Amino acid sequence: MYRTKTCGELRLSDKGRKVTLAGWVQKVRSLGSMTFVDLRDRYGITQLVFEGDPGLGREYVIQVEGEVVERQSKNPKMATGDIEISVSKLNVLNRAQTPPFTIEEVSDGGEDLRAKYRYLDLRRAPLQRALALRHRLSQEVRTYLDKEGFMEIETPYLIKSTPEGARDFVVPSRMNPGQFYALPQSPQTFKQLLMVAGYDRYFQIVRCFRDEDLRADRQPEFTQIDCEMSFVEQEDVLDMFEGMMRAMFKNALGVDIPDPLPRMSWYDAMDNYGSDKPDIRFDMKIHEVTDLVKGRGLGVFDSAEYVGAICVKGQAEYTRKQLDELTEWVKRPQVGAKGLIYIKLGGDGIKSSIDKFYSAEDLSKVAGRLGASTGDLILVLCGPRRRTQGQLGVLRVEMGGRLGLRDPKVFAPLWVVDFPLLEWSEEDGRFYAMHHPFTAPKPEHEALFRSDRKEDLEKVCANAYDFVLNGTELGGGSIRIHNADMQSRMFEVLGISKEEAEYKFGFIINAFKYGAPPHGGLAFGFDRVCSLFGGQETIRDYIAFPKNNQGRDVMIDSPSLIDKVQMDELCLRSTEG
Ligand code: ASP
Repeated sequence: MYRTKTCGELRLSDKGRKVTLAGWVQKVRSLGSMTFVDLRDRYGITQLVFEGDPGLGREYVIQVEGEVVERQSKNPKMATGDIEISVSKLNVLNRAQTPPFTIEEVSDGGEDLRAKYRYLDLRRAPLQRALALRHRLSQEVRTYLDKEGFMEIETPYLIKSTPEGARDFVVPSRMNPGQFYALPQSPQTFKQLLMVAGYDRYFQIVRCFRDEDLRADRQPEFTQIDCEMSFVEQEDVLDMFEGMMRAMFKNALGVDIPDPLPRMSWYDAMDNYGSDKPDIRFDMKIHEVTDLVKGRGLGVFDSAEYVGAICVKGQAEYTRKQLDELTEWVKRPQVGAKGLIYIKLGGDGIKSSIDKFYSAEDLSKVAGRLGASTGDLILVLCGPRRRTQGQLGVLRVEMGGRLGLRDPKVFAPLWVVDFPLLEWSEEDGRFYAMHHPFTAPKPEHEALFRSDRKEDLEKVCANAYDFVLNGTELGGGSIRIHNADMQSRMFEVLGISKEEAEYKFGFIINAFKYGAPPHGGLAFGFDRVCSLFGGQETIRDYIAFPKNNQGRDVMIDSPSLIDKVQMDELCLRSTEG
C-alpha cells in the first residue's frame, strides 16, 4: 500500500499511530543532526523528521513510514501543525529536477513561466482550492438540476455556425474537401431541437468556442451551464435558475442570497447605472441633470443631448491634482469622455469647474437632485445619452473601487430583464439581435415587430434576461421563437435573405413546422461563476489548462504548424510563407 493516510488529515489525536504517507517534498530544512521535510499532497502538508540527511530535493516523490508524534513547536496556521512524523523508513519513488519556481502558497515564478509549467503550478494550494471549488459547483449544478428532472444530453462539437455574434473556430473536413465544420459558440440550436424532440428539461455543462479578442475574463474555449425548458414562461425560468444559484451559494459558500432576487429592467439599468450589468453592491446612481444645466451659455452642455452626474460620497477633499488625473482617466479611449466637470460641496461652500456659468443656487439644485450633501463630490459628463450613461457607468465603478465598495466577498446578484429585442447599428445600417436571433419578441410587441418602421422595431422588447453578479454578467437567456413564420420574420428584420436563412438555419425553421413547443432557457458562463464565487477577477485560475492572452497554450505550444501531408489531405494551402 502506497499510503495509509493523506498529508492533510493527521491530528494530535493520532499520536502514537504508525502511518505510511506519500507525496511531494515541498521544503527541506536541516537542523544539526535532524532534517525537517514538508511533505505535500492535495490534502495538505505534513512535517516529517529524519535523523541525519535523507538526501532529498524539492519535488522528489517519496513514501515514508513512521510514527505520529507531538511537535515541540506547534504551528497553529497548519491543520496538521500539532504533529510531525518521526520517519523510520524512506522510499524515494521518483527524483525531480529542481523546479523552475517555488511551489508554495505564493510562488516566486512569473505568470509566463508558471503557464509553461502549468502542471507544476497546479500543485500549488491556491490552484487546487480553485479547481476544488469548480468541482463542488459543478456537482451542485448536477444535483439540483437532476432533482428538478433535467436530463444532461451531449450535443455535437463539429457543427455549423451558431449565431452568438462572435467569430467561429472552424475545422476542415478531410472527407468533404474544401468544406468546414464550425465549433459551437453555444449549443443554442441543438438545445432548441431537443425541445422540439420533447426532452422538456435539458442541461449540459459544455465547452463552447468563440474566436474573439481575449481579456482577463475571456478564453477562446470556455464552459457553459447550458439549459433549456419547454412549456415555460419567463417567470418559470427565472424561478428555476434562481433556485439553482441559491443552492450553489448556500452549499458551496454558505452564503444566503435574497429571496426573491432583485430585478431591474434593462432601461433602468442603463439610466441609473450606465450598464446592462449593474454592480449593485453600492449605490452612487447616475442622475440626469440636463434640464437643470441647459441654456446658460455653457457650450458643451447646451449642445449635448444629455448631461448626467454621479455623487461620490465624502470626497469633496479631492485635490486639483487628483481631479486632473481623473479627467485624464475619463479621456482614455477605454472610457472615451471628452472631459470631466466637478462640483465640490466643501465645508466652505460649493466650488466647481463651471462657476463662471452657474450660481451656487444653480449648483445646489444639481446637488439636490443627486441627494448630495456637504463633503460630497459630484462628477458630471455630457454627450449623447446612452454613450454618456455608459461612461458615467464606468466612472461609477472606478470610484466605487477607489472607495473600497467593491468587496469580492460581498455578493449582490440580480436579474436584468426586458431587454430590447434589436439593436440598430449605425455603422452597418441594419439591426442586430441584441441577444441572438432565436429570442422571441414579447407577445404584446408582436404587432410592432411586424412593422417596417425603424422607430417601431427599436421599441420591441424581448422576454430576455441576464443574471448579473457584482457588475459581471454571469448568464443570460430568453423565451424563444417557436414558430417558423416568426423565425423567418426575425431573419428578415435582421436583413438576412431567404436564401441565406435557408442555407444557414433551414434545419431549425423546418423543425418548427413539426410541432415545436413554447420554450426558453439560458446559459451561465461557468468559468466566471467559479471565479466570482472564489472572489477573483480572472477566470484562468479556475481552468486547469487555460490559454494566454494571445490564445496560446504555452505549455503544449499550440496552435502550431501542421505538416504538408496533413495540409494536402485537408486540401489547405497556407498564405503564410
Ligand atoms: N446560447 C445563449 C448564449 O450562449 C444562451 C441562451 O440563450 O440560452 O449566450
